[in-house]
Amino acid sequence: MAHFTVIGLGRFGITASLELIHMGHSVTGVDCSEKIATQYAEELTQTVICDSTDERALKELSLSESEAVLVAIGEDMEASLLTTLHLKNLGVKHLWVKANNAAHHTILSKLGVSKIIHPEEEMGIRVAQALNYPMVSDYIAIGHGYYVVEIEVIERIDNMSLGELLNDKIHIIESLLVKREQDLFPKPNDKFILHSGDILLLCGTRAVLKSLAPRLV
Ligand code: ATP
Repeated sequence: MAHFTVIGLGRFGITASLELIHMGHSVTGVDCSEKIATQYAEELTQTVICDSTDERALKELSLSESEAVLVAIGEDMEASLLTTLHLKNLGVKHLWVKANNAAHHTILSKLGVSKIIHPEEEMGIRVAQALNYPMVSDYIAIGHGYYVVEIEVIERIDNMSLGELLNDKIHIIESLLVKREQDLFPKPNDKFILHSGDILLLCGTRAVLKSLAPRLV
């Protein structure tokens, strides 16, 4: 279990905070609005009413105990940037900041923030990907053009071996895991028989995974 601090409890900030709580972490939620801080006081580990543009107020937050700090102030770019600058000055190492537009992103990267988040754009891309490949229930980009995709095995593939499914791509797609209800089968080999409803985790380049798509529908 780790501790996180989330500054700005708008829709994005509170959603991230509640998800972290759900995962078993503890979260300090910070907001300048008393109403908002009070509203979430029960659900988060603690909430603090604080204007994060005030460096002295930020110092009171024992940020060194946090694994990472997420700045989720969107609309007020000046407040987001000042907060970020103060957090950098206070030596916060793992800093995630939500950016609202390209100018905001540019300044944040000049301030040395490596984790800049664009939730609307990122969600837009994920939704488009899901619409394009409905059989891919989730994916993560792991860099250098490689992706891990989560695929639900459809009825047509029921009783097919992994080798038959991957066929000529068996050596260029890594089969990581099959999840069958509560059971996990790590590193399944080419003889592994797939069942409808299995969740299959595959890793490969985007182009290779894309070429597999027609076999999955
Ligand atoms: P979302 O889309 O996530 O709802 P947003 O991008 O519209 O958010 P804002 O509503 O501007 O972002 O800010 C999110 C939260 O940050 C609000 O609850 C607001 O009260 C809080 N906030 C804004 N400025 C500060 C500040 N200086 N210090 C602390 N909290 C702040």
